[in-house]
Amino acid sequence: MQLTDDQDLRYMVLHAPIGICLLDSKTLVIELVNDKFLEVAGRSKEALLGKNCWNPFAELRTTLEQELIKVAETGEPFYADEAEMKLIRHGKEEVVFMTFVYNPVKNSDGKVTKIAAWVLESTKQVRERQLVTTSEKRFRALVTASSDVIYSLSADWKVMQELDGRGFLKDTYEPISYWRERNVHPDDLKMVNLRIKDAIRYKKIFEMEHRVIRADGSPGWTFSRAVPILDSQGEIVEWFGTASDITERKRIEDALRNAKEVSGQQQRLYEAITSGTPDLMYVFDLNYRFIYVNSALLSMWGKTYETAIGKSLLENGYEPWHAEMHEREIDQVKATGLQVRGEVSFPHSTLGRRMYDYILSPVFNEQGQVEAVSGITRDITEQKNNEQRLQLLINMLPAAVVVIRGPELVVEMINQANLDYWKKSAAEVVGKPFLEILPDLADQPFAGQLRHVMATGEVIDVKESPVLFENPDGSIRETFVDYTYQPLADINGDYTGVLVMSFEITDRVLARRQVEQSEENLRAMISQAPVAMCILSGADHVITVANQLMVELWGKPQSDVMNRPVFDALPDARGQGLEEVMKAVYETGETFYANELPVSLIRHGRPEVVYQNFVYQAYRDATGAIGGVIAITVDVTEQVQARKTIEKTQQQLEAELAKKDGFIGMASHELKTPLTSLNAIIQVANAKLKQHQDPFLVGAMGKANQQVRRMMNMINGFLNISRLESGKIHIEKRDFDIRELISEIVEELSLTPGTQEIRFTRCDTIEVHADRDKIGSVVSNLISNALKYSPKTTKIKVDCTASQQEVVISIKDSGIGIAPDDLAKIFDRYYRVEADQTRHIAGFGIGLYLSSEIVQRHGGKIWAKSEPGKGSIFYFSLPLNRTS
Ligand code: ADP
Repeated sequence: MQLTDDQDLRYMVLHAPIGICLLDSKTLVIELVNDKFLEVAGRSKEALLGKNCWNPFAELRTTLEQELIKVAETGEPFYADEAEMKLIRHGKEEVVFMTFVYNPVKNSDGKVTKIAAWVLESTKQVRERQLVTTSEKRFRALVTASSDVIYSLSADWKVMQELDGRGFLKDTYEPISYWRERNVHPDDLKMVNLRIKDAIRYKKIFEMEHRVIRADGSPGWTFSRAVPILDSQGEIVEWFGTASDITERKRIEDALRNAKEVSGQQQRLYEAITSGTPDLMYVFDLNYRFIYVNSALLSMWGKTYETAIGKSLLENGYEPWHAEMHEREIDQVKATGLQVRGEVSFPHSTLGRRMYDYILSPVFNEQGQVEAVSGITRDITEQKNNEQRLQLLINMLPAAVVVIRGPELVVEMINQANLDYWKKSAAEVVGKPFLEILPDLADQPFAGQLRHVMATGEVIDVKESPVLFENPDGSIRETFVDYTYQPLADINGDYTGVLVMSFEITDRVLARRQVEQSEENLRAMISQAPVAMCILSGADHVITVANQLMVELWGKPQSDVMNRPVFDALPDARGQGLEEVMKAVYETGETFYANELPVSLIRHGRPEVVYQNFVYQAYRDATGAIGGVIAITVDVTEQVQARKTIEKTQQQLEAELAKKDGFIGMASHELKTPLTSLNAIIQVANAKLKQHQDPFLVGAMGKANQQVRRMMNMINGFLNISRLESGKIHIEKRDFDIRELISEIVEELSLTPGTQEIRFTRCDTIEVHADRDKIGSVVSNLISNALKYSPKTTKIKVDCTASQQEVVISIKDSGIGIAPDDLAKIFDRYYRVEADQTRHIAGFGIGLYLSSEIVQRHGGKIWAKSEPGKGSIFYFSLPLNRTS
């Protein structure tokens, strides 16, 4: 090109579609650049214009300087095709490819004055080509390295140009158009075609899994991927594809899907079964991983099935101690093939600390080995609380309570009263079968009854059942209980338990037995009793028991009276106050005694009055209530009659005695007056005869005097008797010394010539408060008797001893003595011992009677000890009121 006209050149350069830069050939100063050049150079106009070209393009100087100089010198253009160079564009170094020409511009002299650089950037094309080359290389490498089927197809997929089937699909070496029918499974053809259409339309990679007809004609699966090869215009030239054999993978996937489906179904089934329960259900594999959990457990954890399954206990949030515990238990289930049951308490995410009851059970495979461990956990907090409340409640009951569950009759709950009755501790019974706890009850009806209640739902109520326990020493403990068996239903309404409530009534039964026994004894005793006895039962006083003596007393045939109300059987006993008495005893329970009560009865057809001593006593039954009246009757008719006879005789005797008293009193009274006169005359005569010489007269008068005294004493005695009987005897008490009184009497009685020696052992002065004359007559009488009833050769001993309370005077003789029978009677009025020895001894039997009356009226006592033939001692005592 010859550019001579600067103006034209300028215009052409500026508007050229190719980068142009014009340099001065000598200075290499840039004189002109167009926009395209600025774009390719990545620099501004200002950075280039007027500058030596190596100034802005310093990075290119080493490679291009020589070429540029050559062009200037030789006038030969320099061509570079897609030259690779490092260019700094917009301040950034880039590797670019440029196709350019250094073209010399000559003037009219043919001299090179300028150089024009024509630049076309070909970086993009080069890169694309490079890329294609690389990918082609890779593709080829892939083809060789891959075991996959490689194919190429026409742009419209109609013709398969080449296919290396690799034994999977049929090879194609010649282009064929029926490849779809040959290779694609008819069922998937429609889908494949749709996908092809889509890939062609959007020029995108075809990628799908579909079924194929394999080389051997059997169906298989392939993963097919085809890449469109585009030309520079972006049109599809052809498709390259690979098809891998995924038949096996698909088979596994199918199997897996099936398995998943089955396990999913199983899980859904489990879920359906287990979701309705609030219980926590789960299955562990033997590596302690959860392989199933139900929704209740998931919601407790706040997890989903997918996040929980396959996880360990720790991973699902169990505390280490808790996880270890279950792992140990899983090992145990695995080792033993047996269930493990436990209770555990741990905090629930929202409900706080809860109590759980759990059972881990073995899951066996077909070989009978444990292949998994299933678990069920129940929140028993409420139940525990309820149980605790229930336990508290049943402990408060006065009855013995036990809850028994299931066919094994396991004791679920029991109160202290029941434990006491069984003589067991809670640890010995709770959770154990009833018959294991009490094997001694096996042959008693309880286990059978418990099962019957669970089977039928019936209530069993038994009163006073004997229950026999064996004591540790082998002896039998007999008890009695009232008990009720009440069926307990579970939530399904099935009777699975029994509530047993019992009251031990052993004491009551034994007491009643004792009463029954004693009643039986009573009957036996009554029938054998030596007195008439009967039992009159109930308010009607029915004769239920009567012994022979009683029947005889009633004087009626036994068959007429038995089992009839007593006043019906003995109507003749009515109207004598007995009905009222009997009623009162029955109603009040107070015993009634009667002594010699006359009862009119018709005995053996004749009216008779019988005298009875009887007792009506209420008798009580086992409960303590009055059941009737026991009547004990002693027929005292004979005694009463005998006593009446005696009393009559006594009365007659008394009357006789009274008559005698009256006569003696009157006679004594009458005798006393002349005797007093006689006494006075003798006294006077005695006084006058004192100086008289005639000893006979003196002696006779002395004797007369003595006899008159005796008579006076006698008459005084009689008078005293009659005074006593008429209550006219007077005791005139004064203080005197009894020792002195005794001395006086002893002295006086000793005066009588020829009389026995009277020895008085003198005691200390003893002051008594008494009637001196009357006590004197007692002493005198006792000494006189001693003299009278003992031989003249013996001695009389008088003694007196005093204590703080009394003085005792004794008179001892060695005379004829008194027989025991008589001894009891000698103090009776007019009593005299009738014996040969006493017959000739004068007396009236009133001395001792009077003495005893006098002593008694002084508050003293009189008594005697005697032995016939040896002598007697008479004592009398008088009370003393001594202060010191
Ligand atoms: P009496 O002596 O006048 O018969 P008592 O009343 O003094 O009457 O005595 C009653 C009876 O007691 C006497 O008849 C006599 O049989 C008996 N008796 C009394 N004193 C003695 C005595 N010291 N020794 C033996 N018998 C006596």
